[in-house]
Amino acid sequence: MRQSQLFMPTLREAPSEADAISHQLMLRAGLIRQLAAGIYIYLPSGRRVLRKLEAIIREEMDKAGGQEVFMPAMQPADLWRQSGRYDKYGPELVRLKDRHDREFALGPTHEEVITDLMRSEVSSYRQLPVTLYQIQTKFRDEKRPRYGLLRGREFMMKDAYSFDADWEGLDRSYQRMYEAYHRIFARFGLNVRPVEADAGTIGGEGGTHEFMALADIGEDTIAACTHCQYAANLEKAGYRAADDVPNEGDSNYSGLEKLHPPKVRKIDELVQALNFPADQILKTLLFLADGKPVAVIVRGDHEVNEIKLASLLRADELELADQETTERLTGAAVGFAGPIGLSIPVLVDNAAARISSGVAGANETDYHFKHVRPGVHFEIAQLGDLRNAVPGDGCPKCAEGQLRMFRGIEVGQVFKLGTKYSAVMKAAYLDAEGQEKPVIMGCYGIGISRVMSAVVEQHHDEQGIRWPLEIAPYQVHVVPVSAKDEQQMKVAEELYAELSAAGLEVLVDDRDERPGVKFKDSDLIGIPVRIVVGRQAAGGVVELKYRNEKEALQVKSEDIVSLVK
Ligand code: ATP
Ligand code: MG
Ligand code: MG
Ligand code: MG
Repeated sequence: MRQSQLFMPTLREAPSEADAISHQLMLRAGLIRQLAAGIYIYLPSGRRVLRKLEAIIREEMDKAGGQEVFMPAMQPADLWRQSGRYDKYGPELVRLKDRHDREFALGPTHEEVITDLMRSEVSSYRQLPVTLYQIQTKFRDEKRPRYGLLRGREFMMKDAYSFDADWEGLDRSYQRMYEAYHRIFARFGLNVRPVEADAGTIGGEGGTHEFMALADIGEDTIAACTHCQYAANLEKAGYRAADDVPNEGDSNYSGLEKLHPPKVRKIDELVQALNFPADQILKTLLFLADGKPVAVIVRGDHEVNEIKLASLLRADELELADQETTERLTGAAVGFAGPIGLSIPVLVDNAAARISSGVAGANETDYHFKHVRPGVHFEIAQLGDLRNAVPGDGCPKCAEGQLRMFRGIEVGQVFKLGTKYSAVMKAAYLDAEGQEKPVIMGCYGIGISRVMSAVVEQHHDEQGIRWPLEIAPYQVHVVPVSAKDEQQMKVAEELYAELSAAGLEVLVDDRDERPGVKFKDSDLIGIPVRIVVGRQAAGGVVELKYRNEKEALQVKSEDIVSLVK
């Protein structure tokens, strides 16, 4: 491709609205443009990267036994009613009506559609197992779309669904996907860590892992052992944020929500009532049990004012944590528990502390976990192993290691759904004995557009992006220093032709621009291999430079193809 023809509008400065580095760089490198909040256009180079990610996913899914399908984005609301998710999904579900006033939703995910398909097509155990996948646009009206492609409202996802006759089959399907995910992310050049999420509580039967790309911008905190492979999503294990309370049917629904329907106050309301600076309250949640508040969880800066928190809740329903506890919590976290004798740990950034309920026994560590009153559901205490974890704590899995905390971007998730959808939507098959049984399902997602951002988060420097070779928009960038110099252009054209003939994807910067502009753009767009054709070109020498390395090599232009291939 000739750069003079390529529609790749690069920008010198990052637009002010972009605060994530990946968002800035992707705008500047001419990969994407925003159409509306969380809704993006992929420009030619961006589209190329996306297609490469998709190609890798297709290869690995096919290798793992998956078969590609393509399902509609527009889904009858009726299906969502059957699964129980139409009302429960909340405002994230984009809803619309057709001209006959029939209700539809734009798919945020496709469990309903695929379960509907399988219940009409699968009737016998002989048709199982089967794993179907698609690569498709998803719609989620996220409350806070942000960070460019990291949290969009219209985004690209690979979603796969496995159907097995029994749980052992699901275990095998899940394992195959889990392994495929490792290969996929490795080929993307992403440093990921699979973590346990919502350990053991999802639907009461399945298990789930999230694949976290390590990056400071990540919205999740991962606790990982220094010694063994143990790693878990601390946030999931710890608490529900007000803007992230899942509904029944959601993949991260734990059941806790039903036992103690969290009455979520609007953050704004709380901010007002508490008179906190808004940026100090990151996440707030008011738990209710039996209609009474049990705890307020505040995540934010260190100067949380307990008195104000307490007065927000009715005084007769709450007792303040005792002085000593409060002092212990200062600088870390603060919270309250109601008279039902339950204590809930709170997390403030990576620090953590336990709330004291103020009732008898509250000063004894873990009192309320050990002495839960009848009628109070213990599930709260079992949400996760790590709710109170702080860096340096012992690993819950092995005796040797300590926990360290990282920030991560959830780039994928694998999930044992079991019969969650097949039972309510009646997707059943007849087994060898003629017995009717629900199919056992798994689902497996990768956020392809989010991955693109995550890769840039992990692969960049001050000058720009450093694409990993396999997903780079082009592999080789040929840069003649002066487009006016006939000799340079001749060598550049020859290299372009030879490298292309050798099967490489080449971009040649044939623009009549100053060398400074060309080199800046070259670093910004981050093609892994650069060949500079300069003054020595007449003598058959060009410069070879890898984007990841500082030093350039002087090489004979006739050797370039064999060197680069
Ligand atoms: P998150 O916790 O970040 O909201 P999720 O758990 O709701 O993500 P899943 O339902 O597990 O997302 O969807 C599968 C994958 O789709 C996620 O692992 C993520 O990579 C991607 N994804 C989810 N929401 C978005 C979004 N708003 N923008 C881009 N990618 C997303
Ligand atoms: Mg989500
Ligand atoms: Mg998630
Ligand atoms: Mg998820």
